[in-house]
Amino acid sequence: MITIPWTDEQVAALNGFQRANVFHPFTCEYRSDHNMADGGILVATTGGFVCPYPSCEYTQHWAHELMADPHWIECRGGIYHTMANVKGVSEYDL
Ligand SMILES: [Zn+2]
Repeated sequence: MITIPWTDEQVAALNGFQRANVFHPFTCEYRSDHNMADGGILVATTGGFVCPYPSCEYTQHWAHELMADPHWIECRGGIYHTMANVKGVSEYDL
């Protein structure tokens, strides 16, 4: 597990993970109140995950280490291959 602050490179990797539909992304704890089309998928910043919903102050200051690895994912022919695919998801307890 990693905690903030995160580098720009880690932020890019985290947001890639959140949007890749490989694993369930982190979402806002209050998303059922937001009525948002994307389900309140959290957005990574250097200061942690934040909720995209205006006025919501939900934050999360940790992530799985795998998520922030810039080499975790590659896409071939529209299919995402991850380090977890290779090594086994259970290893990371996602
Ligand atoms: Zn929220």
